[in-house]
Parts: sequence; C-alpha cells; structure tokens
Amino acid sequence: PLLILTFICLSISGQKKANPELQADALIRQMTLDEKIGQLNQYSSDWESTGKITAEGDKETQIRQGKVGSMLNVTGVDKTRKLQELAMQSRLHIPMIFGLDVIHGFRTTFPIPLGETASWDLALIEKSARIAATEASAYGVQWTFAPMVDIARDPRWGRVMEGAGEDTYLGSLVAKARVHGFQGNGLGNVDAIMACAKHFAAYGAAIGGRDYNSVDMSLRQLNETYLPPFKAAVEANVATFMNSFNDINGIPATANKYIQRDILKGQWNFKGFVVSDWGSIGEMIAHGYAKDSYDAAMKAINAGSDMDMESRCYRNNLKQLVQDGKVDISVIDEAVKRILVKKFELGLFDDPYRFCNAAREKKQTNNPENRAFAREIGKKSIVLLKNEPLSNGKTLLPLSKQTKTVALIGPLFKATKANHGFWSIAFPDDSTRIISQYQGIKNQLDKSSSIVYAKGCNINDNDKTGFAEAINAAKSADVVIMSLGEAADMSGEAKSKSNLQLPGVQEELLKEIYKTGKPVVLLLNAGRPLIFNWASDNIPSILYTWWLGTEAGNAIADVLFGDYNPAGKLPISFPRTEGQIPIYYNHFNTGRPAKDENDKNYVSAYIDLQNSPKYPFGYGLSYTKFDISNLKLSSDKLSSGNKLTVTVDIANTGNYDGEEVVQLYVRDLVGSVVRPVKELKGFQKLMLKKGETKQLTFTLTPEDLKFFNNEIQYINEAGDYELFVGNSSDASLKANFKLTL
Ligand code: BGC
Repeated sequence: PLLILTFICLSISGQKKANPELQADALIRQMTLDEKIGQLNQYSSDWESTGKITAEGDKETQIRQGKVGSMLNVTGVDKTRKLQELAMQSRLHIPMIFGLDVIHGFRTTFPIPLGETASWDLALIEKSARIAATEASAYGVQWTFAPMVDIARDPRWGRVMEGAGEDTYLGSLVAKARVHGFQGNGLGNVDAIMACAKHFAAYGAAIGGRDYNSVDMSLRQLNETYLPPFKAAVEANVATFMNSFNDINGIPATANKYIQRDILKGQWNFKGFVVSDWGSIGEMIAHGYAKDSYDAAMKAINAGSDMDMESRCYRNNLKQLVQDGKVDISVIDEAVKRILVKKFELGLFDDPYRFCNAAREKKQTNNPENRAFAREIGKKSIVLLKNEPLSNGKTLLPLSKQTKTVALIGPLFKATKANHGFWSIAFPDDSTRIISQYQGIKNQLDKSSSIVYAKGCNINDNDKTGFAEAINAAKSADVVIMSLGEAADMSGEAKSKSNLQLPGVQEELLKEIYKTGKPVVLLLNAGRPLIFNWASDNIPSILYTWWLGTEAGNAIADVLFGDYNPAGKLPISFPRTEGQIPIYYNHFNTGRPAKDENDKNYVSAYIDLQNSPKYPFGYGLSYTKFDISNLKLSSDKLSSGNKLTVTVDIANTGNYDGEEVVQLYVRDLVGSVVRPVKELKGFQKLMLKKGETKQLTFTLTPEDLKFFNNEIQYINEAGDYELFVGNSSDASLKANFKLTL
C-alpha cells in the first residue's frame, strides 16, 4: 500500500505537492469496513495498564488492528512514539493523531482564555496560541481541543473561564486569532497543531448556568449570537470542530443535523472533521434521545459527527448499522475521508514520527523566551477595577518599591500550581517553575523594604484561627496587599456555581484587615466574574488577576509597582448579585424601560436592585486618565457599497504613559426584529505617552450592520442608527447616521 500511495502522490502531482483529498480517496478504496470504522474511533490513554485484556480486547491489539484512529491525553515523545509504532503495524499503516486539551499554554502556561481576552490584544492572543502549539507539538501532540469559542453570558457556568466572554464580535476575532496561532503557517509544519472550535453549539447558554444542561433558544438568536465565532473559526481554516453535550431545542448537538450538516458542512462548507465531545454520543441514551448505543451511533453519524470520542458507540455498532442499511456506506466514507485528509495534511503519512523529536521536546521544557512572553501577556490581562484616591488625595497604586513594610495577606500568595487555573497539563516540576505572587512581589521590592506574610484563612472553610496573625501583620505594615478569590478548580468543566461571592471566610478576613485602618490593595483571583460588593464599595484599589499562569507573580508585581500601567478591559459583565444573571450589555430594550428612578411602578426593573451591572463589559481603568472627544462622522448617511469614516481624538491627560482600548458601538433604532441597545463593532488598542493626543479612525460598512431577521436571513435594513465611542460599553459619546440601501 505504501508503494501504491507513493505512486499516486507522484503520478497525480508530477513534481507538485500531493493532493490530500486524492490520497485519502485512494486509501479508502483499500480499506475494509472495520478499518474505516477504526478511523472514527478515538480513545483516551488513561487506561491503567496498557495491554490489559478487557471485554473489548486490549487497546494495544486494537491499535495494531487499525481499530483506533486517534488518541487523546497522550503526551511526551516517548509515549506517542510507542503508540504510533503500534499503529504502524496495522495492515494499511495508518498513523494515529494525538489530541490534548492545550487550552492556555502547555509547559509555559498563559492566562486562562477569559483573562487573556481582557487584553483585547489580538496579536498577543495569537502569539499565546502559537507558543502553546510550538511547545505541545514538541511533546508529540498534533491536535488541541481549543479554542472554546462558546459565547458565555452566565458566570455561574464554570466554563466561562475557557472562552472569550460574552460578546459575539470580540469572540469572533479572538476565535480567529487563536486558530491562526495554533495552526501557525499551516498543517504540515511541525510546530503547527490542529485547532478545534468547540463546543458546537450554544454550550454556553445552558439553562441556569448548569454545565451540560439543555439550551432552548430561537434559531435567530442561535445564528446571530452563538454561531458567528464558529463561522469565524471556519474562515480562519480551523481543522476540526467538537460538538457539545447539550441539546438545542430538544435535539442533542451531537445528533443535530441542522447545525452539523446544514450549517457547518453545508452553508459554511467546512472541510475538516467533527469530533464528538467526550462520550456525548453515548450520553444521548440518558438524554432520552436514543434508545441504545445502536440508535445513538446511527443518529450521530447521520447528523455529521465524524469521530467518536470515547463512547464506543461507533466501534460497537457502525458495522451492523451499515449491514442493516441504517447508515449508508457513503456516510462512513465521508467521515473517514475528512479524518484521513487531516492526517495527510499533518504530514503523518510522510513520517508518522515527525512529532516525536526528543531534541525539540527538550528545548521546550523551560524556554526562557516563552516565559518572558507569559509575563507580558500576564500583565496585559490584568484589569484595574478601582483605584480611588485616599484622604491624602493620592491613589495607592502604583505602589512605591521603597514602601517600608508591605503585608501580604491571603490564601493565594504562596500558591504555585493554582496560578495555572483550570485546564492545564500538570508537570512534576510546576511548583518550582511557577512564580508565586509572594515571590513576584519580593523580586521587585527594594532590598531595604520588608514583607510580612500571613495566610489569614483558607479559601473555602470556616477556620478563622489565622485572623489574629493576619491582623497583627496588617498593623505592622505601611500597606497591605490581599490576595483572595476562588480555588483554581472552582471554575472549569462541571464547576457551575449558584453562589459567586468570595468563598469561605475571605470577605470576613478582608473586613477585619480593613478595620485596622491600613491602606489595602486587593487582588482577586478567579476564573469567572465574582460578586464582591463590599470590597468594591470599601477597598480603594482592586485588581482582577484571573489566573495568569507560569509568570503570575512577576506579572502582578509589574502592575502593582507601575512598571506596567494596566490596560485590561472586562470581556464579560460583572453582576451585582446572582439574581441579575444572565446579564450582558447588548440586551434588548423592553416596552417598559427602567428609565425613571422615581417611577418604579410597572417598569422592567427589580424592586430591590438596579438593572446595571457592577462593572460593565469593556470596563477597565488605568493609572493615567484618557479623554475621548471630538467624535466626527464623514457623513450622516451610509449607503450600500460605501463606508462611513468615524474619527475621535484621544488624549492622555494623566500622569503616566499608558494604553487604552477605544471601543465603537452601534444601535439600530428600529428593526423588523428588536435590536440590541448597543453592539460592539470595532475597537483599537493604542499607547499614548503622558500628555499625548492622537486621532483615531474607524470605518463602518453596511456589512458591519447586518443581522439575522426572523426568517434567519442575514440582511441589512435601512433606517436610523446611533453610534457610540468610549472606553467601555457605557460609551456615551454619540452620533447619528442613516443607512440607506
Ligand atoms: C470537554 C471537552 C474536552 C474533552 C476532552 C470534555 O469533557 O467538554 O471540552 O475537550 O473533554 O478532554
């Protein structure tokens, strides 16, 4: 077969590059049905002893028989080589693909994806994925199950940490950046790994924010808000998709023909393959959508799920389904082809061991350039929520490196691995490689200054025995820095929460320390928006630090001491209480706007709370001050084929150099369906020296103003629009224009 293949490559292409589609077709012609089904079967490596005989036969034998197309959770060139050698013993010598959740870095970890998105820096986000791919591919990995591009408007859902937040426009740009980063200069380069847009679709809209729960939404909303980041991933040439555990309007995503066949493979012409989520084909039985695994396999493959991650429904039933005429062989062939094409594109048929290079692996074990980048993207992900002047008229931040005594209080200062956040690959030396917050601050404080440390309490219990020591530490210091938050594994998969306040007795500790009268800076570590109203109302300076990865401590210290002026902006709204959830900036108006504070009757408001979030989408402060003014449009009309030019001036009027993210929003005032009160349509991040003014230009075209009408057509509607520019979704500088068609 190898000879035949070589012949095909040469004869088809002459001296030109081989065509993976034709190569796959030729190979499929030689394959038995069992071998084809094998390609659709993916196993995890986490069986205890390889070679163990189970009811289904040992996995090593199955690999040798060509019954396993891909494996996940295998890392390291030794392990992947060993398993690949088994695959190469199969009759047709078809290599396996090794996949892994490389979500935010690999050996060097970067901020969790939600945190990274707060940088609003697409080039940096792309680079983060690029480095992750370089490191992971050096460890034998060829496929990441990332990026997660699910729009998430519900911070109770633990997986908000893994995506780009609540906004479709920002989320689509971040999706593209991440796909480009992972796939680099294209599959076939040994430092490029396949990206996977997940979870298709609407997984982030689970009812009540409960992971895996049902999703019930209009097709209009699905198309307008939840699908565009996936479409963006296809436009960026993403190699694979993963479907999701949830049902959408009663049809599990895994068996959803509308999204997988009609939209993804039809309208969007996606050429890669779809992998199920872990066991999601089999889960359709418990879901009440499939009678048994035979029925589940039939529904999933006919709906366009190409590869079965771990449910064994394909392995155990597809042959019978074909023999019974329930699944057409052409459906199997299509799925097999999609997978084989990627294996050819990855270059695995040329050299199945090309990702098993021990020298490359060694080089990436502790790469100093990658660490430097982790520090850079770490500091750029931090959001300054508050920095109010004290009674002396000065703000606490940035802190002086000469501060005589600094008290570090809280359960997260000395944490190491926690700084990874959820979804990271644990390596034995992580605790020595990660810069703790304590270490980062110590690295930067002057030698003549001193640190007093007290843990104060644990993250999540009622033990207050450490309070006294913490209070004493605070009393002895000039400034207190407190580091509080969630445990790193309180967000992530299956980490939905109904209570988003600081866990345990942390807020009580904060109040006790505040009572000492010492100035307090608060660092908040979390994978989601937390609720911390008391702190917001009382603590003068607050930094939201998410989970920043390997260089967390240094990145935080850079911001605390002003070596870097923070510029992060929230990619998701922060609620005042859980009762406001879901809360997002681009909502509709009702017929009863809550506009008049004195007229609380029969308006669309809570009788016990404002409608607004605690911190809005797009919000984040700086140590300096920016004034945005002089908004001008090139015309008060925009017509088809033309563009509107929008200019504003931005001035740095404060005392520090700094970066700002200028955001442009529009509102379609009247539509055939109600339109959001604001929608992000553009942003620019720029650096301004203290005292400097710059003019910024945005352009808008009718394409930017399209939306899905009630017939699910993507259209423009003529009419009046408002346009807003500012430095958060509260942007108030406003102009009007008309769209004519
Ligand atoms: C998650 C996916 C992940 C997969 C493999 C599933 O439980 O939902 O996002 O890629 O496991 O680890």
